[in-house]
Amino acid sequence: MNRIRQFGYQLNMIISRVLIGRNGFDNMARTTLWASIIFAIINVYAQSVIIYFLWVIFLGYTVFRIFSKNITKRYAENQKFLEITKTPRSNLNLLRLQVRDRETSRYYICRKCHQQIRVPKGKGRIEIRCPKCGERFIRKT
Ligand SMILES: [Zn+2]
Repeated sequence: MNRIRQFGYQLNMIISRVLIGRNGFDNMARTTLWASIIFAIINVYAQSVIIYFLWVIFLGYTVFRIFSKNITKRYAENQKFLEITKTPRSNLNLLRLQVRDRETSRYYICRKCHQQIRVPKGKGRIEIRCPKCGERFIRKT
């Protein structure tokens, strides 16, 4: 066990040494890596040339991002990526919360200011007031 831990430690040291002055893992690289993994898994069943190419392209792009030395440019791209994916990421986060707290709460998004509002479940039809902007709306909980 000790050997494995030592190996892991050494591997970490090597990786961090290799990535000095490089872009490393950012949100975009993580997303493209996940995309390539998903395409690779799909292709085990699909055996499609197109999916194979997508897998290779996403994996190649991930490696390119991680090892890129143009950190300023990669940082700007990553910021843009975060901006573009803001809505789907917050929707995904909301879905995750809704699944996690499905027994006790419901979540709503204020249509005016997009604030996330948590309401206890099972109160029937109630008027919800947004704590941020004061917008009122009626929902069944
Ligand atoms: Zn609001």
